[in-house]
Amino acid sequence: MTEISTHRNYIGGEWRASSATETLDNVNPADARQVLGRVPRSPRQEARDAIDAAVAARAAWRAIPAPARARKFLKIHQVMEGRIDELARALTREEGKIFPEAKGEVLKTLNLIEWFIGEGMRYIGRTAPSEMPNNLAYTVRQPIGTVGLITPWNFPVAIPVWKIAPALIAGNTVVFKPAEATPATAQICVEICEEAGIPAGVVNMVFGDGPEVGDEIIRHPEVGAISFTGSTATGTRIYEAGAAALKKVQCEMGGKNPVVVLEDADLDLAALGTAQGAFGSTGQRCTATSRAIVIDSVADAFVEKVIAHADAVKAGNGLDEGVTMGPSIDERQMNKVLDYIEIGKGEAKLARGGKRLTEGDLAHGFFVDPTVFDEVSRDTRIAREEIFGPVLSVLRVKDFDEAMAAANDVDYGLTSSIYTVDPNRMFRFIDEIETGITHVNSPTMGGEAQLPFGGIKATGVGEREMGPTAIEFFSELKTVYIDYTGSSRKSNIY
Ligand code: NAD
Repeated sequence: MTEISTHRNYIGGEWRASSATETLDNVNPADARQVLGRVPRSPRQEARDAIDAAVAARAAWRAIPAPARARKFLKIHQVMEGRIDELARALTREEGKIFPEAKGEVLKTLNLIEWFIGEGMRYIGRTAPSEMPNNLAYTVRQPIGTVGLITPWNFPVAIPVWKIAPALIAGNTVVFKPAEATPATAQICVEICEEAGIPAGVVNMVFGDGPEVGDEIIRHPEVGAISFTGSTATGTRIYEAGAAALKKVQCEMGGKNPVVVLEDADLDLAALGTAQGAFGSTGQRCTATSRAIVIDSVADAFVEKVIAHADAVKAGNGLDEGVTMGPSIDERQMNKVLDYIEIGKGEAKLARGGKRLTEGDLAHGFFVDPTVFDEVSRDTRIAREEIFGPVLSVLRVKDFDEAMAAANDVDYGLTSSIYTVDPNRMFRFIDEIETGITHVNSPTMGGEAQLPFGGIKATGVGEREMGPTAIEFFSELKTVYIDYTGSSRKSNIY
C-alpha cells in the first residue's frame, strides 16, 4: 500500500511541514475509497509566518520593473505546458470534473497567462494637462504590498492563477489559501511558480480551514487587499471584515444563471446549450445554467430536447473513456444537491432524474442523476437559491416581458443567455438583464482572458477579474504634480 502523504505549506520559498495536529482527507469524489492525500489544518501562526515571508520579499519584488516581473510568467507558461496532463489528471482525481474539462481548464489557464504577460507592458498611468503653466501632471500605478488570495475548489487551477498573475505583475507579494478539497492542484501550481524562478517569499501558500487560516489572512494588518472567490455567505463575511479594516476587497460569489428561450429560437441549439450549462462540470461551475425561462408555446418541445441530452449523460470517473459527467465534489455537496431535489419535488414537477446514482462502482462516488424540474414558479427555492449540482429548473412564461421579470428576480447576477433571432428583443435583453456577463445564442458559461469576468448584485463586489480590470484591483494609483520650473506658484495667492 502506498503511503498517503500530507501536503506541505510553501512559506518563504520552502516546503514546510505544518505543525497541525489534525488533517483532512483529500478524497477522490468519484471513488471515496481512495484517499489521495491529507490536508493539514494549519494553525493561524503558519498563516502569520507566510505573511511575514511575503512582507520580507516585498521590496525586492517591487523593485523589478513591471515588464520584467511579467516576463517571469513566460517561464511559468513554459513549465505549465510541460505539465498539462499531470495537472489535468490531478484535477480530475480530486475535483471530479471529467478529464477533457480538466484539460480545458489548464489550457484556459495558459491562455490567461498569455494575456497577463502583456499586462506588464501595459501597467501604465496617464498624463493630464495641468491647470498650471510649466507643470506636468500624471498618474503611476503602484503595488498595494502583500495581498491575500482565497479560492474555491471548482476551478482550482484557473482561479488561483487569474489572481496570482495580476497580483504579482502589479508588484505585490501574495499569501494564497486554496480550498480544502483541491490541495494537489494548488500544490502543482505553486511548484510551477517555484520551478519558473519566482523568488522566495513572493508566492506563499498555506493549507487549512477558512475560519482559521483564511480569517488570519483577511484580518492581518500587513495584508492590504483580499481577492476572494467562493460562496456568497463566506464572501459577505470577508467583505465585512475587509471593510472594517478599510482594506481593498474583491469578492466573486454565487450564481443562479438564467437562459431565456424565446419562441423564435433554434430549439436544438438552445436545448444543447442549456444542457451543457446545466450538467457540464456536474453543474458546479459558477457560470452553470440553473434556470431555463422558456416561452410557453415552445416549452414542451424544449424540455423534451433537454431531457434527451440528460438521458445521454454518462456519469462516472472522469478519467474513464466515454464518461461525460463526474461526481459532486464531496458527500456534503452531494447531500445538499439531494436535499434541494427533495425540496423541488414539493415545489414543482420532476421531469427527469431526482436521485443519487448508485449502480455498480457509482455507489462509491458522489453521483447525482441529471435532474430537470418543469413548471417551476418564480417564488420557489429551486428557482432562487444556488444548488451547485446537475439540476435545472424550467420556468414557463407567456412573453418576453415576463421572461425578463423572471430572469432578474433573483439575488444573484453573474451570467445569463438568450436564444432568439429577433434583434429587437436580443438587444433589450442585453440592456435589461441584471448580470455582469451575458451571452446570445450560446451557453451561460465561458469567458475569454482579455475580457472582464464577474458579477453584480449578490454575486460580485469590487473590480472585475481577468481582462484589463484585473490588474487595477491589485494596484493603487498615485497622482503626481511636477512644477518643472519651480516658479509657477510664486504669484499664486492660494
Ligand atoms: P466557500 O465559500 O465555502 O469557500 C471558498 C474559500 O473560502 C475556501 O478556500 C474556504 O476555505 C474559504 N473560507 C471559508 N470560510 C472562510 C472564512 N470564514 N474566512 C476566510 N476564508 C474562508 O466556497 P466553495 O464551496 O469552495 O466554492 C463554491 C462557491 O464558489 C459557489 O457558490 C460558486 O458559485 C462560487 N464561485 C464563484 C465564482 C465567480 O467567479 N463568481 C467562481 C467560482 C466559484
